[in-house]
Amino acid sequence: MRLYELLSSYEESEYLKKFKEKFPVIFEFSKEVEVLPWREEFGIADFNPEVVDKLEELEEKLKEGLISKEEYEREVRNLKEASRTEGIAFLEKKQVSFRRERPHLSLVLHELGHVFFGESDRIWSSRYGGGEFLMRLIIEEVVDGDEKTVRDFMEFLKQLDENPEKAGRLLDRAAQAVSKKYGLSCTGAREFSLRCGVILFPSERTEALSREECSMFVINMLEGANFKDPLWTECLKELLKALSTSSISISNSSNFGLFYKTNFLVVFLVEKKAELRKHWKDLILNDIFLPYPGRNDPLY
Ligand SMILES: [Zn+2]
Repeated sequence: MRLYELLSSYEESEYLKKFKEKFPVIFEFSKEVEVLPWREEFGIADFNPEVVDKLEELEEKLKEGLISKEEYEREVRNLKEASRTEGIAFLEKKQVSFRRERPHLSLVLHELGHVFFGESDRIWSSRYGGGEFLMRLIIEEVVDGDEKTVRDFMEFLKQLDENPEKAGRLLDRAAQAVSKKYGLSCTGAREFSLRCGVILFPSERTEALSREECSMFVINMLEGANFKDPLWTECLKELLKALSTSSISISNSSNFGLFYKTNFLVVFLVEKKAELRKHWKDLILNDIFLPYPGRNDPLY
């Protein structure tokens, strides 16, 4: 089966309609991608899958009224963090495979994006603040963009590691532009970030942003835009505008290897983000928070 056929089976989804509208080239490309039947050895990244099974069992019980909502919430809180490989993409062969017959639409788009852009999770996955995160923000019309916008952004992420000074200058300029627009006095990305409630810690006594600061700034900007924060959203728009006209060098694969090995901070931030989300979830379960826009995100 072609991925196009699988995607088309979600035609009732508003999200898919938006995706087709914003990313027609990727949608067309799905005709070239083959869906392979799932094989157990594809589950290479599995991590305590029994927890996922338990979670599904609890959801089932709750649905059937066998346990109360309170019991369900208590049990869920006691479960370990878990992940199970639900899908896989073979970039060069243009093949994908899914554990379930009817995977979640966001997973189908995730694997399709891997093949289309030819990038690994570090650059693509929304979990790492990659291109997929931006793709979602475009689909949800938080910012404008298309395939090229996502590509430019991912090239910027690679540059962030290879040439943090240049990436930092772009962030400084985006922050200055927003600052001017809103009549703030921020002179650069550090001050702007502080204004938005995020302190960046310079690792050296330099004026230029360090790689770590750039990574932190970018992740907070994406998260901020996701929660419709006006300053962060505007800053992302300014960055995308700058990226669309600047000539960012296309990285070669050896540079990518460097990025993969050295960007530990991103991993650290991702873990922090996961922790925060867990707390947010707890707060929501306890009805402390009112619903916020990001709650419909399929990954929550
Ligand atoms: Zn992936």
